[in-house]
Amino acid sequence: MLRRSKQREAILDFLRKTSSHPTAYHIYEAVRKEIPNISLGTVYRNLRLLRDEAEILELDLAGSLSRFDGDTRSHYHFRCEQCGRVFDVNEPVDLERNERVAKKTGFRVSHHILEFRGLCRDCQTSMA
Ligand code: ZN
Ligand code: MN
Repeated sequence: MLRRSKQREAILDFLRKTSSHPTAYHIYEAVRKEIPNISLGTVYRNLRLLRDEAEILELDLAGSLSRFDGDTRSHYHFRCEQCGRVFDVNEPVDLERNERVAKKTGFRVSHHILEFRGLCRDCQTSMA
C-alpha cells in the first residue's frame, strides 16, 4: 500500500473522475487549483508511483505524449491525430488474441495494448 499523501489523493481523485486521459501537465493544472503549492515534479513523481502500484494506467505508445487513465480495466483507446485527444473505445477486448500470439511465438503474453488513430468527430466537422 502506498503511503497516503494529500497530493497523491488529489491526483488519483482527479483521474478517477475524468475521462479525458490528461497529460501530466493537465493534471498539474487541475490539481494546482486545490493544492496551489504543488510542483510539476511532485505530480510526475506521484504519477509514476500510482502507475507502479497499478492504481492508474499510463498510455505511452511510442512517439506520443503520455496520457494517464484512472480506469485500470483493460480497454481500447482512440487517439485523434489532429487534436491529440484520447477517447475510450467501447469495444470488447480480444483476449483470444493473447492466446493466439502466445501459441504462435512461445512468448508468455500478459496483455496487449491497442490504440486506434484517425480523426475525432469534432475534427472531422472542422475540416468539412
Ligand atoms: Zn480531434
Ligand atoms: Mn481509457
